[in-house]
Amino acid sequence: MNAVKKDQKFIFITGGVVSSLGKGLLSASLGSLLEAQDYKITLIKCDPYLNVDPGTMSPFQHGEVYVTEDGAETDLDLGHYERFTNAPLRRENSITTGQIYESVILKERRGDYLGNTVQVIPHITDEIKSRIKGAASDTSLGEIVIVEIGGTVGDIEGLPFIETIRQMRVDLGFKNTVFVHLTLVPYLSASGEVKSKPTQHSVKALREVGIQPDFLICRSEKAISNELKKKIALFCSVKEENVIAAPDVGTIYELPLFLQEEGFDQKIISRLSLQKRNSKMDIWKNIVSTIHQPEHSVSIGLVGKYVELKDSYQSIHEALVHGGVANKSRVLVKYIDSDALTKNNLKEKLEGLGGILIPGGFGERGVEGKIKAVQYVRENNIPFFGICFGMQMALLEYARHVCGIADADSGEFEEFRSKPIVNKVIDYMEGQSEGRSKGGSMRLGSYACHLKKDSLASAIYKQECIYERHRHRFEFNNKFKKLFEKKGMVFSGINKQKNLMEIVEIPKHPWFLGVQFHPEFQSKPLKPHPLFSSFISAALQRQVSCRSRLRRNNNSTDLMSFQT
Ligand code: GLN
Repeated sequence: MNAVKKDQKFIFITGGVVSSLGKGLLSASLGSLLEAQDYKITLIKCDPYLNVDPGTMSPFQHGEVYVTEDGAETDLDLGHYERFTNAPLRRENSITTGQIYESVILKERRGDYLGNTVQVIPHITDEIKSRIKGAASDTSLGEIVIVEIGGTVGDIEGLPFIETIRQMRVDLGFKNTVFVHLTLVPYLSASGEVKSKPTQHSVKALREVGIQPDFLICRSEKAISNELKKKIALFCSVKEENVIAAPDVGTIYELPLFLQEEGFDQKIISRLSLQKRNSKMDIWKNIVSTIHQPEHSVSIGLVGKYVELKDSYQSIHEALVHGGVANKSRVLVKYIDSDALTKNNLKEKLEGLGGILIPGGFGERGVEGKIKAVQYVRENNIPFFGICFGMQMALLEYARHVCGIADADSGEFEEFRSKPIVNKVIDYMEGQSEGRSKGGSMRLGSYACHLKKDSLASAIYKQECIYERHRHRFEFNNKFKKLFEKKGMVFSGINKQKNLMEIVEIPKHPWFLGVQFHPEFQSKPLKPHPLFSSFISAALQRQVSCRSRLRRNNNSTDLMSFQT
C-alpha cells in the first residue's frame, strides 16, 4: 500500500441534506486560501458512481467532462480545482467506484487475495485508501491534501468512501486529519425562519457511520445569526466558532473571500497545528471587484444542444467570464438551443450579439442549426469562436457554402444518413479505428500545436508552439486542405507529428477562429486564456460599433436589442 508522507495533512470534505451545494467550489476555495498562505496543496475527488470515468455519461446526467493535462476524463469539480488553485492535477486525482472495483476484481482474478473472501471492508476500503495516498504522495506538491467525497451522506454507494476516511482518521491521527461537512440551512418563507433541523439530521447520519465533523459549512440564502450558529454547534457537537456561514455569492470567485472573512482558513491551519502565514488574497479581491464593477458589457451567444443544463458548458462559461475580466467587461452568456435555430429565426436570435461561440458536442442532433449559425456569423462579420465540434461545424459550413461541396459531412453522422457519405470533410484519421469500444477511446489530453507566422492565432498566443487539451474522435480530412486554402481558409495551427489541423481561421473576417482542442480547460480567473480574452475584445468592438451605427441611424427600438 502507498505510504503517507511525514506530516502530510488531510482535509476530508463531505456534503449533506441535498446535492449540488457546491462541495467542489468549497474544496477549490479552501485550496486557494491555503495556497495564498504558501502551502503546497493537492485536491482529490472521489466519485461513488460505478462508471470508470464520466467519459461515457451524457452531459445532461453529469454536466461537463473535464479533461486533465494527462488526458483523464474527470468530474467537473476538477475544473474548479484547477481554476482556483495551481495544483497540477492528473489521472490519479479522480477516483471512482468503477475504478476501485475494476482493480479489486482484477487483483482477485490474478490471485492477489488467494485464500481470502474479498469484501468491501477491508479490500475495497484498502484500495480507496491506497489510491488516495498514492495521488497525494506521487506529487512533489501536497503538504495539505483536500479530499472531496462526491454525493450526499446517507447514499448507499458513498458508504465505502466514508468508511475509508473514518479509518484514515484512526491511521493518521487527529492532528493530521480534518472533517468538513457542507450542509444546507434552508430558509422557510412561510414562517420567515432559517431552519437548522436538516443539518442536525445530516450530522446524525455522519455520526452513524463513525464521523464527527470538525467544521460545518452552512449554505443558506439568508444570513445565519450567531444565535443559530450556537444552536447548530450545540446539537451537532461542533465548536461554535467552527460553524461557518456560506451565503449565496454573486460570483463564485467571491467564495474564498467570504470564507476568509469567517476565518475558515486560519481555523483550519490552527486545527492542523500548522503555522499561520500572511495571506495574499489581494489579486482575488481585484478580480471580484472587476466582476462586480465592469467598465463594459458584452453579450455572447453560446449555440449548443445541452443548453438546459448549464453545467454542461461550465469551463467555457468560466473561460468567457475570465476573458471578460481581462477586458474589464461583464460577459452575458445567452444560451441558444441549436435544435431550435431555423432559417427564419436566425437573424432575430443572433443579430444583437457581440460574438457567437459553438462549443464541443457529440452526435447529429442540432448540427444543421449550428451550421446555419456559422454561415450567418461568417457572412455578417460577427466574431466567431468554434471549439472542437464547433470547429468541425465551421469546416462543414465552409465546405458546403464556399468550397462548393454541397454534401460535405462528418463521418460521425454516418449512422444517421440514409446513404453512405461521399465527402467526409471530417473523419477518422489514419490509425484511429472505428471498431473500438467507446470508453476512453478518444484523442485525449495535451498535444503540441505549431502556429503559423503572421496568423491571428500566433498574434494572440505570441508563441510558436502551444500545448492544449483534446477530447475528440474525429479530425479535419487533409484530402480537402488545398481546396480550403484556395478558397481563403488558413490552417494556422498544426500538430506536426501527426499532421493534424488544430486551428483554422478566415483572414478576411474580423475574428473567425476554430480550434480542434479545448482551450477552456486551461483558463483561470488569475490567468485568462488568451483566445478567450481576444474573442471578448473582438466581440466588444463589434458591439460598440453596432451601437454607434444604430445611434447614427437614430433607431431607438433596435438599440434596445443591443443593451446588455
Ligand atoms: N464529436 C466530435 C468528435 O468526436 C467533437 C468532440 C468534441 O467536441 N469534444 O470528434
